[in-house]
Amino acid sequence: MTLRREISESPDTTPAAVDHVETAGPAETEAIGARLAATLRPGDVVLVAGELGAGKTTLVRGACRELGVTVPVTSPTFTIGQQYPGPVPVSHIDLFRIDRMTEEEPDLLADYLGPDTIAFIEWPPAAPSEHAGLGRIVRHVRIQHAGGDRRILEFA
Ligand code: ADP
Ligand code: MG
Repeated sequence: MTLRREISESPDTTPAAVDHVETAGPAETEAIGARLAATLRPGDVVLVAGELGAGKTTLVRGACRELGVTVPVTSPTFTIGQQYPGPVPVSHIDLFRIDRMTEEEPDLLADYLGPDTIAFIEWPPAAPSEHAGLGRIVRHVRIQHAGGDRRILEFA
């Protein structure tokens, strides 16, 4: 995998380091998820954005393994989320089909978020800019197709 670091600067913010990682297959994306997970603590929320099939759930699976989750990590299909037992409870929420955070949704998510839980939230590529009520968001991950099994993962 290829790792490069760029400095992104916009006029109204201080320069922020953005990491880009290119992976060549799902195992590498899982490994990146594991590396990310090793930096997390209870109460942290990670947003993962990207197209359908980009590899969001794959990244979350790698992260969950690192966090000691042993049950299968799959897309929450019929519910908005699921919580996996582990040394620290890990929540996995999929808001892919939700294009706007309405007033009710923070309540829907309340079951999955909290100071003792590490949470991963999957979003569509154009994720909403309002994240009120989601707790302490520590990372934004964006995954893009880069041809074949290659993916570009961007961390901010
Ligand atoms: P999403 O949750 O973004 O819809 P998934 O993680 O469920 O995506 O699915 C990603 C699919 O792409 C899986 O079938 C996976 O095996 C495949 N894939 C191929 N290359 C990669 C890669 N580099 N990283 C992640 N997934 C990949
Ligand atoms: Mg998914």
